[in-house]
Amino acid sequence: MRFEEAIVTSRREFLSNALGTALVTASTWPIRAEARSMHGQSDSSTSNSERATQKTPLSWDVFLAVSIPAITSDLPPGEKERPWPPISSTLISGERDAVLVDTPITVEQARALANWVLASGKNLTTIYATHGHGDHFFGASTVLERFPSARFVARPDVIKVMRQQASPKSLATFWNPRFPGQISSHLAIAEELAGNVINLEGHDLVSVPLGFTDTASTTCLYVPSIGLIVAGDAAYNGVHLHLSESPDRQKRQEWIAALDKMESLKPRAVIAGPRFRAPRNADDDCAGTI
Ligand SMILES: [Zn+2]
Repeated sequence: MRFEEAIVTSRREFLSNALGTALVTASTWPIRAEARSMHGQSDSSTSNSERATQKTPLSWDVFLAVSIPAITSDLPPGEKERPWPPISSTLISGERDAVLVDTPITVEQARALANWVLASGKNLTTIYATHGHGDHFFGASTVLERFPSARFVARPDVIKVMRQQASPKSLATFWNPRFPGQISSHLAIAEELAGNVINLEGHDLVSVPLGFTDTASTTCLYVPSIGLIVAGDAAYNGVHLHLSESPDRQKRQEWIAALDKMESLKPRAVIAGPRFRAPRNADDDCAGTI
């Protein structure tokens, strides 16, 4: 099936993407086609003991935050603007509860995400951040205003990067000039995830450390019962890679090793963090995943 094809070719696509893909724009778009393609699948990897307890199989859905322009004079040759790529947030749902993976940059993006989660009718228990880049957690405080009982968690090494990104210097020199007046003035920093598993109605959601990908100490969230990997920025889909933190061969080898690690988990679906393509139908989008 297309998911598997996409995963098998992932490293090749990753390397070709590294050579450069133009930035384009996209609109806010929950990727329901991807979700539909998964909702129809049986939970074939569920163990006998899990079946005996008749846990509700998990499902997932993806929200794509709208692409917004970043204010900068550092433009590629021939370009007049620098759109920040759309960023995916993934909602993993059980019968009643749900876990959200990553939140976008601005208050407006995060409010749209919160509305989307609210419309799911699920009880949001946890927000998980895959890595410490601001464009994957600055929106968490806005989502938490809507879901105050949810916990916001990340691995300790991720939290270190978060603190750097949310520092007054980083905000003053990088983030606020690019998105003036759009980022929450009350950023939330995650609390430490105890262990490496988030429990969702008896299912394990496993935090997998991936080392250096587009920054240090990145992770993915792996859901064995449905073969899902939420990759954060360890995987890009149709978006030029953020390579400025990995200018040397060793760091890029580490990124490739992270892809190998995800591939070794034999996922049925991998959700890339940055992605532009809104699906024309499920198969179209699955073929482009990663
Ligand atoms: Zn990143």
